[in-house]
Parts: sequence; C-alpha cells; structure tokens
Amino acid sequence: MACCEPELKPEAPPAYRRVLIAVLLINITLFLVEALVGWFSGSRALRADALDFLGDSATYALTLWALGQSLAWRLRAARIKGVSLLLLGLLVLADSLLAMTNGAPPPGYTMTGIGLLALAANLTSLALLMRYRQGDANIRSVWLCSRNDAVANVAVIGAGLAVMVSGSHWPDLIVAVAIAALFSHSAMAILRQANAEARGEGSGCSSC
Ligand SMILES: [Zn+2]
Repeated sequence: MACCEPELKPEAPPAYRRVLIAVLLINITLFLVEALVGWFSGSRALRADALDFLGDSATYALTLWALGQSLAWRLRAARIKGVSLLLLGLLVLADSLLAMTNGAPPPGYTMTGIGLLALAANLTSLALLMRYRQGDANIRSVWLCSRNDAVANVAVIGAGLAVMVSGSHWPDLIVAVAIAALFSHSAMAILRQANAEARGEGSGCSSC
C-alpha cells in the first residue's frame, strides 16, 4: 500500500539514515523490476504491485528529504505525492478493468517468480526497519504497512500459480484490480492526512 513516512529526527543515528537509504534502493529496484516485467509479460498484477514499490520509494525519499524542511514544504510534497499516486493507481485500475474484455494470460511462472522476489524484498525492508525502529507509532505503521505489502505479494504469487493451473487471465486481473483499488484508496488517505495536518489537526498516518 502507499505507506506512512517513518520518522527521521535530526538526532537520529547515521545508521538509521543508512537503513532508510538501503530500503529506498530496495524499493526503487523492485519498482523497476516489476514494472518492466509487468509491461513485457502483460501481467496486470505485477504492474499494480510495482505501483506499491513506487509509492513506498516516494515515501522513503520524502522522509530523507523532509528533515530540516518547513511544514509548508512537507505538506506540499505530501500533496504532490498523494495526487500523483492516486492518478497512477486509477490508471492501472482502468487498464486492468479494460484488459478483462480481451487479452491472453500472462506467463504464470514469471508472476510467481517475481512475486517471490518482491516478498523477499519487503521482508528484508521490514527486518532492516525493525532493527532501527524509533517510537511506538512508527513501529506500528511500519509493521502494518509491511504486512499489507506482504499480503499483496502472496496474492501475486497465488495468482501466478492459478494462471498456470487454469490457463486463464482472470486470476491476474482480479488480483490486479484488488491491489490497484487498495492502492488508490490509500493514496486518497495520504491526501486526507495532508489536509488534516494543514488544518493543524496533528500528524500520524492513517493510510495504513
Ligand atoms: Zn507499501
């Protein structure tokens, strides 16, 4: 899902900053892998899951950038992120719905293989973040977010297996629509959150 920004305080140890950079690189890499394989294999579920890695990359990049920025800039950045992720989510959702009318099944073994890679990447990110966790609210959001992402990865792995067994493109499309719809929903939550913060109604993430 579009995850919450972890807190990065000015006094945070340099090791925590390095962890955030490592997690950012993992997410960017998996975004590129899933987007490219999703594009060339025709798997809509992989394209939808790629969005999640893109959204999480934006989240970690903003966390690293936001340190020392004014609230006005942080809110502006959060709004730009929310709007662009929402548009991308709706685009992938529309593409997956349109693919229901025609299209050949994608290679199921490719979906399952990349899904396993994505699951390993998310579990690695979770292990890294949990080691340098800061603050209770932060742990909870990191945990909820990683759990939701892992559920999506398992759905992609399962859809790949179901495509292999059935020879139909429906498992791919159903999982794609579910992931893209949830993603759009959490992008909308990011926008609501930014609006609440702009009104001075406190922070904390409600998108997970
Ligand atoms: Zn996520």
